[in-house]
Amino acid sequence: MERTFHCFQCGQPHAVETWPSINVAQDPDLKGRVRDGSLFVWECPHCGARNLAKYQTLYHDPAERLMVWLLPDGQEPPAAVAEAVQELDGYTLRRVRDVGALVEKVLIHDAGLEDTILEMCKHVTRMELADQHPNPALLDVPMRFYRLEGADHEITLSFPLDGQMQVVNIGFNVYEDARGILSRNPSVQPAPGFAEIDASWLRRYFR
Ligand SMILES: [Zn+2]
Repeated sequence: MERTFHCFQCGQPHAVETWPSINVAQDPDLKGRVRDGSLFVWECPHCGARNLAKYQTLYHDPAERLMVWLLPDGQEPPAAVAEAVQELDGYTLRRVRDVGALVEKVLIHDAGLEDTILEMCKHVTRMELADQHPNPALLDVPMRFYRLEGADHEITLSFPLDGQMQVVNIGFNVYEDARGILSRNPSVQPAPGFAEIDASWLRRYFR
């Protein structure tokens, strides 16, 4: 489905292919383009600027039993669809507000990790970084899962600081500890249906 977007830089309109739903079982090629974010990037033919197309889409990976609803600007999912999908057994259902968060959910799930536990990892890592470096901005810095790597399953998180992207590597023991904290706090659960799991979600329980 084509939609017209306006270039953020020159303002010229351009017809861009959009995906109101993404089923990676039906279109396996789309998975890689979601994982690297390129599915949502379009280049302006007038000025060459790279734009990020902003629209609602439902990502569905039947093999991984994962659905992520990208709802920019706090849009609400159609109630009928949201209700029908809640009947799906064993699925992880998430909602996100931007492409970066959609990419992260897919990367986390594909790596065999859980986003709830990773939010706890980020929380612990933010506190440790803020402890080591005298920069209060570190306490609230938005972190993203980047990758899980090596025999030791080292986890790399990325975050912006002072206008630059930084990465921090954490050991898998941090993930194990975070899992332990959550299992000792069984009230810390995703809401039913398409849950929004991010730093604000965790902040309702831990500060
Ligand atoms: Zn342009």
